[in-house]
Amino acid sequence: MNCEIIAIGTELLTPWRQDTNSLFLTEELNALGIVVRYKTIVGDRRLDLVRAIRTAIARTDILIVMGGLGPTEDDLSREAVAEALDLGLRRDGSLVAALSARFAARRTPMTDNNLKQADVIEGAEILPNANGTAPGQWLDTAFEGYRKLVMLIPGPPGECRPLFVEQCIPRLRALIPTRHIARRTLKATMIGESAADSLLAPVYTTYTDVETTILAGNCEIQLQLACAKPTREAAQARADELAGRLEEVLEEYLFASQGETLEQIVLYYLELKQATLAVAESCTGGMLGERITSVSGSSRSFLGGALVYSDALKTAFCDVPPQLIASHGAVSTAVAQAMADGIRRRTSATYGIGITGIAGPSGGTEEKPVGLVYIAVSDAQGTECSENHFRGDRQKVRQWATQKALDMLRRRLMN
Ligand code: AMP
Ligand code: MG
Repeated sequence: MNCEIIAIGTELLTPWRQDTNSLFLTEELNALGIVVRYKTIVGDRRLDLVRAIRTAIARTDILIVMGGLGPTEDDLSREAVAEALDLGLRRDGSLVAALSARFAARRTPMTDNNLKQADVIEGAEILPNANGTAPGQWLDTAFEGYRKLVMLIPGPPGECRPLFVEQCIPRLRALIPTRHIARRTLKATMIGESAADSLLAPVYTTYTDVETTILAGNCEIQLQLACAKPTREAAQARADELAGRLEEVLEEYLFASQGETLEQIVLYYLELKQATLAVAESCTGGMLGERITSVSGSSRSFLGGALVYSDALKTAFCDVPPQLIASHGAVSTAVAQAMADGIRRRTSATYGIGITGIAGPSGGTEEKPVGLVYIAVSDAQGTECSENHFRGDRQKVRQWATQKALDMLRRRLMN
């Protein structure tokens, strides 16, 4: 079943307020296997509301109209839903009595505008609001021959959330066959988004019952799979089946099959091999060490490193021969290898990583342009170095350098 959420309020169209309720509602709906296909935000204008509701009712099974149920001029949701669906409004006597009693209990006079909170759409059921004056409404109706469920719920989060959980969820559960959603997150790196999709799309498009989303960012590609089925086991089995096929297609680009970070994976393999790591960083200035140490438990495999920005410190802390720097330049394969080797020997680590490059935006030459980064991984068997040409600003070049370094180590650990 599909759902659309319409969040109503002019304030939600300003830079200062966000529709946060719908995030909560989406989580609750997903837990029932209901997929949110559209979210619409509309200001407090009657014509806009009527249009948005008409559009929504034609394209979804479940429509949640949220906000605009208060007593003021700009609270128009009841009127707009009635108009859009061509239904009448009736003033409910019991609601009028309840409103009057509420005001009497507080010893404040009730102004007439409160009465519209007692207006109920023809055919709708009243959803009691334990935390405010405006009740919600539940309408089980038909539109162009299709069954539609329409809910009106209040906007203040302290009313919206409990009312939805207490009143709407049990009604939805009773009407809708239970569905469970299983999710998987696969991650790949060092492959472009379009290249990845051209490999993956032929596979995932054949799984029409699994929703697949590709997200690129932070130097990696994320594949999010979601599958809804009557049982948890069936949903999980189907999501796992597709995940397995996508893993095969991604081959060595895939680094995580359960949403893990690259640094978590590297540390996992280091621990599995009972190996240790030390790093020597120049242009990344400690970013690699920061990424690794952000994982709890990294001390079991990560010894530490040296931040060797100047030539002198490359020699002092990593034993890089000054002649090597003089003849090849600090940004070179030879120096990256010597850094990786040197830090490994100095610390008696199993693996050493050396990074040296030009992060920019200044400092580039024709021969050694901005974005040129040499990354070396060393162990007792030998040292491997990559020459990289990363694009982007200083921060991006540095991020990519740490990503590539971790990925080189990951690949070596997996062999
Ligand atoms: P309402 O009476 O329905 O117009 O809403 C009253 C207040 O609830 C608004 O001023 C907002 O502060 C808050 N609110 C309304 N809609 C939302 C929403 N979708 N997400 C978060 N807060 C909301
Ligand atoms: Mg409002």
